[in-house]
Amino acid sequence: MNEGQLLKITEEYGSPVYVYDAEKIGTQYKRLTSAFKGVKNLKINYAVKALSNISVLKYLKSLGSGIDTVSIQEVQLGLAAGFSAEQIIFTPNGVSLSEIEEAAKLGIQINIDNLSVLEQFGTKHPNTPVCIRINPHVMAGGNSNISVGHIDSKFGISIHQIPHLLRIIENTKMNINGIHMHTGSDILDIDVFLYASEILFETAKKFKKLEFIDFGSGFKVPYKAGDIETNIEELGKKLSAKFNAFCKEYGKELTLAFEPGKFLVSESGNFLTTVNAVKQTTSTVFAQVDSGFNHLVRPMFYGSHHDIDNISNPKGRERFYSVVGYICETDTFGSNRRITEINEGDVLRFKNAGAYCFSMASNYNSRFRPAEVLWYNDKAHLIRKRETFDDIIKNQVEVDFSTKKEKVLVK
Ligand SMILES: *Cc1c(COP(=O)(O)O)cnc(C)c1O
Repeated sequence: MNEGQLLKITEEYGSPVYVYDAEKIGTQYKRLTSAFKGVKNLKINYAVKALSNISVLKYLKSLGSGIDTVSIQEVQLGLAAGFSAEQIIFTPNGVSLSEIEEAAKLGIQINIDNLSVLEQFGTKHPNTPVCIRINPHVMAGGNSNISVGHIDSKFGISIHQIPHLLRIIENTKMNINGIHMHTGSDILDIDVFLYASEILFETAKKFKKLEFIDFGSGFKVPYKAGDIETNIEELGKKLSAKFNAFCKEYGKELTLAFEPGKFLVSESGNFLTTVNAVKQTTSTVFAQVDSGFNHLVRPMFYGSHHDIDNISNPKGRERFYSVVGYICETDTFGSNRRITEINEGDVLRFKNAGAYCFSMASNYNSRFRPAEVLWYNDKAHLIRKRETFDDIIKNQVEVDFSTKKEKVLVK
C-alpha cells in the first residue's frame, strides 16, 4: 500500500479512516508458524480483542488460524465469522459463571483463571474439559497496565495455589485438558519468556490428561525505526526444542498453542486523519487533526508511540509538530515530532494502527466511529461503514417532560 493508494482511500471513504493491509497480517502469521515449524501440532488462536472486524476474522480463518476470545460476544462474533466451536478458546477474566456456561454449552474450549469459579464449574459440569490459566509471576511487559504476570495481577491462578487447585480437581473429578499462561504484552527478553515456560512445564507434569499447552502471547512489535521487537525466530527455535523435550517426557504429542493479537495485526494498520488546523502558540506548532482519543486511545491511555507521517507532502521540509486531537480534554497523539511540512487539509498517517485501535474506539464527544477498509488483493474493501447520527441516537430513550406530576391526595 503506497501513499497514493492511501490518499485515494481517504478521498473515497472519508476521513478519518482505518486501513489494514491483509498481506502484512498474512506475513506475520507465516512468520509465527515458520518459527515453530519444529513442533508437530501448532495452534495459533488470534486474540479477537485486538481487532475484531468480521472480515479480519474471516481472513485469519482462511490462513488457518483459530481465535482466542474474552467475552461471549467475541465467541458469537467468531461463530458468525465461520469458526467452528473447536477453533475457539474462551479466556475470560472476572465474568459470571453463567457466561462461562453459555460458552461451554456452545462447545467452546473454556479456560478458567479463578479457583472459586473452577470449583463451581467443575462441580456442575465435571465432564466438560477445562483449560486452566496459571500465573507464573514472571514479569514481562513494559507498561504496568499490560504486564499481567506480576504478584498483584488479577489474572490467572497463582503457581502458589497449585495444591488447592489439585484438590479441587480431585474433588470434582473434572478433566483438565490444557494449561495456559499469558504474561502480558511487550516481551523484550526471550529468556524471561523461556523461564516462564519452564514453570508452566513443571506445572503441566501434575496433570495427566493434557492435550495442549498454551503460551498466550505478548510478542512485541516495532513501533519505530530501531525499536526492539520479540525475536520470534529465536524464540521459535528455543521454545520448540523445550516443548518437544517436554512432550517426550510427558509421553504424548501435545499441541503448542499461542494467542497473539498485536503481533498479527498491529503493523497491518494505518489510521488516516486530516489536518483541520495548524496552530502556532508561543512554544509549539500544533497540527490539529479530525480525530482524537475517541478513535485512537493508546497514546493517552498507555503512553504508546505511533509513528506519524504526512502522506500528502512526503518529500517536504521537516519541521517539529505536536499532533493533537479535537477532543475537549488533553488529547495528544505525539509531541514534538519531526514531520514533513504540514498544511491544513493534509492527510497524516498513524502507523501500527491495527491492534487495540479501532477495537477501543468510542463515541466520546458524540463523534462517529470511523470506517474500516481492508486492502486485499491490491484493492480496497470497505469492511465497516462510518457511523451516522442514527448510531449515536438509536438506543437513547427520551422522556416526556411535558407531563406534570399528578397531585396525590392523601386521605
Ligand atoms: C489480550 C490477550 C492476548 C493478546 O495479547 P497481544 O499482546 O495483543 O498479543 C492473548 N491472550 C489473552 C488471554 C489476552 O487477554
